[in-house]
Amino acid sequence: MARLPFVAGNWKMNKTVGEAVELVKQLKASLSGVEGVEVAIAPPFTALDAVGREIEGSAIRLAAQTLFWEEKGAFTGEISPLMLNDLGCRYVIIGHSERRQLFGETDETVNKRMKTALNHGLLPIFCIGETLKEREDGKTFSVIERQLEGGLKGFGGKEIQKVVVAYEPVWAIGTGKTATPQQAEEVHRYIREKLERLYTREIAGEIRIQYGGSVTPENVKGLMNQDNIDGALVGGASLKSETFSRIVRFKEM
Ligand code: PEP
Repeated sequence: MARLPFVAGNWKMNKTVGEAVELVKQLKASLSGVEGVEVAIAPPFTALDAVGREIEGSAIRLAAQTLFWEEKGAFTGEISPLMLNDLGCRYVIIGHSERRQLFGETDETVNKRMKTALNHGLLPIFCIGETLKEREDGKTFSVIERQLEGGLKGFGGKEIQKVVVAYEPVWAIGTGKTATPQQAEEVHRYIREKLERLYTREIAGEIRIQYGGSVTPENVKGLMNQDNIDGALVGGASLKSETFSRIVRFKEM
């Protein structure tokens, strides 16, 4: 079965509620009629409710940027899966490199978050990727392997089918340096082969692997033309409806 392309916008710590509503209204208009691609947006927690109301009845899916692994209790500042479900989230980004680098997330805590998301019917967008130093040291594949094994620990074929993998080389995030389509495809192919070894060829063939890292309307097509690139996780360019919708409409270019 062909994999449905999936483009998600990660708004990170940007947009007040008013700004978020304005952006999503523009997106709804500019994305109307788009077919053959799934779209999700991940506003900050404070805007999930308002954005969720705006996209009700549209094809745009709501995503959160992370979650905590407990349902409730004394965890000041954290957000539980019950709260995300309450707001109508379908996806949740897990293990973004900014969370790993700035907020101490490890493969182990990423795995806990992944399990919690799946136990609550939230679909993880599972982020992995090497730093520039790791790439220069020739460790790209070993880092990707470790992150895949760690993040997916304990998952069977049934669970993994609900996961979207996002390959985001850390050196390409927010830097304007995109991996070339060939560089990205090389790692995407490695990820799919690793998933084949962990599960089955059939299951690995169904899992969507997004590329993330300075994706723009100009470079999206070359990336999406690769066999194992099934979509994009977009940061900076998702903050404007014009650029994000051109990325979503990559087939029309
Ligand atoms: C991201 O943070 O997931 C990302 C890919 O950011 P950018 O597109 O800005 O590089």
